[in-house]
Order: sequence, then structure tokens, then C-alpha cells
Amino acid sequence: MKDKVVIITGASSGIGEATAKELAGKGAKIVLGARRTDKLRQIAEDIKAAGGEAVYQAMDVTKPEDNDAIVKLAKDSFGRVDAIFLNAGIMPVSNVSALKTEEWKQMVDVNINGVLNGVAAVMPSFTEQKSGHILAVSSVAGLKAYPGTAIYGGTKWFVRDFMECLRMESAMEGTNIRTATLYPAAINTELLDTITDPGAAEGMGGLYEAFGISPDRIAKVVAFALDMPEDTTVSEFTVGPAKQP
Ligand code: NDP
Repeated sequence: MKDKVVIITGASSGIGEATAKELAGKGAKIVLGARRTDKLRQIAEDIKAAGGEAVYQAMDVTKPEDNDAIVKLAKDSFGRVDAIFLNAGIMPVSNVSALKTEEWKQMVDVNINGVLNGVAAVMPSFTEQKSGHILAVSSVAGLKAYPGTAIYGGTKWFVRDFMECLRMESAMEGTNIRTATLYPAAINTELLDTITDPGAAEGMGGLYEAFGISPDRIAKVVAFALDMPEDTTVSEFTVGPAKQP
């Protein structure tokens, strides 16, 4: 872990923030990306105050040029990129019949295109250096269907399939690019703030109130995957509250 250069998208809150602090505490050099720079600045300051290294830059993962720019920032600041944690995501869930078609498009854009843009940005460096680690956040909604999560879950099923194809292709091509996909259940973050449908907000709110656990649990799993020896891929983790059925 020591001195690994790790880009984290969606680093301004929740799982991204917790992971940035966990990895920085283990000696990784962190490159923080998200839209809210005031939050990123504070997190970078917290990391530095604790003796770690971090830089940050505003990015919208739906814009390919912002993804290219964060890779450039990593290289300019620390000389290389070892890993990217594709974590940015939104979850404005609702039943299909509510026809929140704008939110459907936003979920596809952030949760799918955001992942593709991040991979496209780091792939040339990883291919050239014949190493690199790509970690992405799916969801338990990417493993099983739940009412209300048709589009959100669909974006997360995409992440699952994409990451597994990427793992197999990298192995066959001998590029030594490793992957890890996380499937979190209820984790207490700002994610529920993206829900606009009152019924969905109430249902999800109750679930998280009953079961939600801290995002630092996910951060520890990311650290575990990153810390495995170069010849080993731990490709999938389902992580959630022990009490959540
Ligand atoms: P948060 O809402 O706390 O964090 C989401 C992060 O994504 C924020 O940092 C936000 O930053 C960023 N983000 C959103 N849109 C964009 C964008 N267009 N460009 C760049 N960054 C963006 O929620 P979580 O920490 O929970 O979410 C992290 C990931 O975990 C998501 O992919 C989510 O789907 C997944 N997940 C979460 C679960 C949970 O229970 N919390 C369960 C399963 C999966 P900003 O607004 O500053 O851009």
C-alpha cells in the first residue's frame, strides 16, 4: 500500500471519503475527485494533518475530459497511477411507473458512463506499465432485483458484468490489470439525499435507519483488495450490515 497512487472518484463524502482516509492512513498517495471542491479541500487537509498525502480536483465523472484531467493530476503530482476507485454514484430510486425519466438518464450517465470514462482515462497508463488496479462500486442491487431499483440496479448490474469482462480480458491479454468489484448493502452516507420520490425515500430511510453501518467498513475492504500481492486478484466482495437480511 505504501506510496501507491490511488485516484478516488466520488471522494467528497460517504464511501469515497472514508476510503481516502483509510488508504492515506496506510501510506497511499490519494487523488480526490468529485464536484464539491469545498468538501474535497477539507478532506485533503484532514489527510495532510494526519501525516498523509493528497491532492484534489473538481471533476464530473460524466465528462471524459475531467477523467483524463484527474489522471494527469495524479501523474503531475506523484509521477504515476497505480489504482483507480470508481466510486461516484447516485441513487434516485423510484418505481418505473413514476416515469422519472430524467433521473433514469442521470443514473445511466453517472453510474455507467462515469465508470467507462474512468476506465478509458487510466487504461493507456495501465497497459503501458503492465500493471494497475481498477476497483468499482456496484451494489447488492447489482446482484438481485428489488422493487424500486429497476434503473439504479440496472446500472449496477452493468458494472458487475463490465468488471468481470475486464478481469478476464486483462488476464488473457497479459496486461496484469487487476479488478475488484464491491457490492455494498445499507451503508450510512449521503446517498439517500439523491432520492426525490417520497415513497422511495421513506422506504429506504427506514431500511437504513434500521440497519445502516459506517462507510469505513467498505474502506477497509478496498484496502484489503489493494494490498493483495501483485499475482492475486480478489475480484468480488459483498459487504453489508450483519443484521440486514
Ligand atoms: P454519497 O452520496 O455519500 O457519495 C457519492 C459520491 O459521488 C459523492 O462524493 C458525490 O460527490 C459523487 N458524485 C455524484 N455524482 C457525481 C458526478 N457526476 N461526478 C463526480 N462525482 C459525483 O454516497 P455513497 O458513498 O454511498 O456512494 C458511493 C458509491 O457507493 C455509489 O456508487 C453508490 O451507488 C454505491 N453504493 C452505496 C450504498 C450505500 O448504501 N450507501 C450501497 C451500494 C452501493 P459530488 O456531489 O461532490 O460530486
